[in-house]
Amino acid sequence: MEKELIFGHRNPDTDAIGTAIAYSYFQNQHGYNTEAVALGEANDETSFALKKFGFEAPRVVNTVANEVKAIMLVDHNEPQQSVEDRDQVKVTHVIDHHRISNFATIDPLFYRAEPVGCTSTVLWEMFKEQNMEIPANIAGIMLSAIISDTLLLKSPTTTDIDKEAVEDLAKIAGVDYKEYGLELLKAGTNIATKSVEELIDLDAKSFELGSKTARIAQVNVVDVPEALERKDAFLAAMEKDAKANGYDLFMLVITNVLDSDSEVLFIGDDESKSVFAKAFGKELVDSEAHLPGVVSRKKQIVPPLTRAFEA
Ligand code: MN
Ligand code: MN
Repeated sequence: MEKELIFGHRNPDTDAIGTAIAYSYFQNQHGYNTEAVALGEANDETSFALKKFGFEAPRVVNTVANEVKAIMLVDHNEPQQSVEDRDQVKVTHVIDHHRISNFATIDPLFYRAEPVGCTSTVLWEMFKEQNMEIPANIAGIMLSAIISDTLLLKSPTTTDIDKEAVEDLAKIAGVDYKEYGLELLKAGTNIATKSVEELIDLDAKSFELGSKTARIAQVNVVDVPEALERKDAFLAAMEKDAKANGYDLFMLVITNVLDSDSEVLFIGDDESKSVFAKAFGKELVDSEAHLPGVVSRKKQIVPPLTRAFEA
């Protein structure tokens, strides 16, 4: 079998990296020759999970056509979130749990997407459907991905299937998922040692919303006021990044992972600001808004913004 690379989105999170590792195991059991790689360094939370279950961080790649002819994607499909030379290779498989946008291929492919909390939940179903055994370390990294994406099953993206998967994977991995889950989420909230430039890029994604290019970044914290001490610096860094990369608007979502609320910092033109107000029923005050109960970019932020921009 000719080698294929498997990877998640840019600025990878625990799902992008963890599910790539687990899916590579799954596919190699089926006779494929795959390697899990990443489109960026593992963040603190992901590094904590990798270490806990005995994995090295996957090799970081910026291009793929120089080494393979075909690839498999996890946890994303939108081209601006993927590898820059994707149009030069064949996408043979996708497993995902996001909206499908601007995705087209020349050849037929395996594509599986479900509106569940995490890509690892989809993969867990695939293991179960085929009665395949899941090794303890693979179960551990899949469990970590689901805990991360669902904020320990509290995000509104969480489904009954995610809960079932978490129970099952925790048993196989031999961990108490509530205890481990809190440790994992907290491992990703250390912002004090990072610059505002790093923080606005760690978990940032670009989206086409109507005719606008939006950058939406998310930072998980346990102390929102601590993060807001640097509000002016965040706004300045967002302005600079938007100008440099042609983003029409930049939204930073600061999420309290314990309370499941978010504070938003927003920069953009007047039209974008009024669209924000329409989308969330709330005016920005001094470039800031409180969004109680909002934790999910894919479910609670991108869809209302998309509808408001396209209205
Ligand atoms: Mn992800
Ligand atoms: Mn995900």
